[in-house]
Amino acid sequence: MASRMLVTHALPYANGSLHLGHLVESVQTDVFVRAMKAMGKECRFICADDTHGTPIEISARKAGMSPEEWIAKNYREHAQDYEAFEIGFDLFYTTHSPENERYAVQIFEALQKDGAVVKRDVLQMYCGVDQRFLPDRFIRGTCPVCGTQDQYGDSCENCGSTYEPTELKNPRCAICGNTNLERRSSPHYFVKLSKYQDFLRRWTS
Ligand SMILES: [Zn+2]
Ligand SMILES: [Zn+2]
Repeated sequence: MASRMLVTHALPYANGSLHLGHLVESVQTDVFVRAMKAMGKECRFICADDTHGTPIEISARKAGMSPEEWIAKNYREHAQDYEAFEIGFDLFYTTHSPENERYAVQIFEALQKDGAVVKRDVLQMYCGVDQRFLPDRFIRGTCPVCGTQDQYGDSCENCGSTYEPTELKNPRCAICGNTNLERRSSPHYFVKLSKYQDFLRRWTS
């Protein structure tokens, strides 16, 4: 085994409290890291709150906070819980960081320069009341497959079907309840990963 190791585990979502499932993983990883360090390996254990995703924006609104306040509150709670369980991270950080932003921009710009980013217009649901496009999670309605009410715009929790928000019956805005949603097109960026297939296969092996 290599003498220098970088260890992490699945990033906890910054959208609520840690539960026992998170801690099982953390304790197991911590045991492994402690063993490696005791054996004299140069081992770094890093982790972070995953702060990006539509559910975070929805929960923040419900709690009457900005997304930044919401993730800061969850970060404090997570850090305290990990400390109480004596999880020995060398770094417990956040994806909402200047470093992450810098590298994301760097990667995106490099891809763009290489001609791997294509722009296409995509039809999306739009709420005229909130004056914003609605991601799948911001749309609720009746499942087109089994008819269960109050399901998300992309999947049904009852029958497990996945679908397009435009297939949902009686769609409404999850923020304001507006049932008169429009379909509007907006530009989206796509990365042509196939361009890097050979490199990625080599690198990941
Ligand atoms: Zn269903
Ligand atoms: Zn709305």
